[in-house]
Amino acid sequence: MLNEDEALQRVLTAVTSGPAEDLPLLSALGRHAASDLIASIPIPGFDNSMMDGYALIASDSRSGKKLQLIGEQPAGADRQLHCGPNQAIRIFTGAPMPAGADAVIMQEDVERQEDSIVCREPVEPGENIRRLGADLCRGQIMLRRGQPITPGRLGLLASQGFTHVSVYATPRVTVLSTGDELISPGIPLAAGQIYNSNGLMLQGLLTQMGIAQTQACHCGDDLQATVQLLKQLIETQDIIILSGGVSVGDHDQIKPALIQLGIQPDLWRVKVKPGKPFLFAQTARQIDGRPVFIFGLPGNPVSSFVTFQLFVRPALLRWMGATETSAASVPVRLSADLSNDGDRPHYLRGEIQNGFFRVQGMQQSHALFALSQANALLRLAAGEKRQAGDWATALWL
Ligand code: AMP
Ligand code: MG
Repeated sequence: MLNEDEALQRVLTAVTSGPAEDLPLLSALGRHAASDLIASIPIPGFDNSMMDGYALIASDSRSGKKLQLIGEQPAGADRQLHCGPNQAIRIFTGAPMPAGADAVIMQEDVERQEDSIVCREPVEPGENIRRLGADLCRGQIMLRRGQPITPGRLGLLASQGFTHVSVYATPRVTVLSTGDELISPGIPLAAGQIYNSNGLMLQGLLTQMGIAQTQACHCGDDLQATVQLLKQLIETQDIIILSGGVSVGDHDQIKPALIQLGIQPDLWRVKVKPGKPFLFAQTARQIDGRPVFIFGLPGNPVSSFVTFQLFVRPALLRWMGATETSAASVPVRLSADLSNDGDRPHYLRGEIQNGFFRVQGMQQSHALFALSQANALLRLAAGEKRQAGDWATALWL
């Protein structure tokens, strides 16, 4: 059985990025840049004032010195004013610096008279001026291929005059829940039945990643029905996420169905708790030059959730062109003693509050309520024992 790192490596080696597309800036939020982007406009674009005040020659700003006001330069069109010795120009934040002036004195540091000012505090040359290109130069790489488009980067791209940006596409993903016991929410339950909760949970995880084109479907524990449905999905989807039926029970039809379709899993079973029966496969047939990637997640809700986080999320990020595919990890202190007596690493579900990680509720793989209270996972290696107050690293969900 592979360990988690080997399993993840195997998945990430197989998955390559999808196609690129040009999107309006706002629609590109959360996507990943499909190429390096070079600045064509420096920031600032020209020398301008950092303050509301008066532009002047710094050496004229001795305390008590009176300077004649010769004009006004607000933010906006450059009035092409020139500041000479013993002169000052009223100026406002963001306004272009008038020629001749080499500093701005804050309005609080002068006494204003009719058409002159008297300086109270001297200023240094360059003081209160925002210099051309000090933040970003023309020709500088401002965003690298594979970096996410964040709101700050949207602002940056808009400041360059962009209306569109080339980003990687998101995949078409179907979640196929399997199990004779499952019915859809909204229908009354009969004895022995449960509502399909994984379908929606997994669609929620996909939506949270910015994947909008998701659909969910269901089939019972029937080999031929599973084969037929998979056959259809392989024609139209980039990624198929299966839930349930991936273990070794008599009614687990996923592996037999894949094999009947000529698909040999790349990996099956990982040394991890929860989630041991995790499966990964890819089709030989390619759509747009890429195989369809198939993830088989165990049906227990917590196992589905954890294996999605450990293996599916990084793979989807890779498909979507992200350079960084690992989850955000945060340093935490443990609120109680924790130990793992098992022979597999255990991902505990818990809540980070005020820097402390506290295990939430039952730690069994069907415990959906406990999972719903969690905002983090904490990995305990096989046999590991930790004490309350110890530092650890949690995966932030
Ligand atoms: P399986 O992996 O098919 O053996 O299922 C393991 C457990 O997860 C069983 O108790 C199933 O009833 C439950 N389960 C499977 N699929 C789902 C689902 N979509 N929603 C909620 N529970 C499920
Ligand atoms: Mg089942």
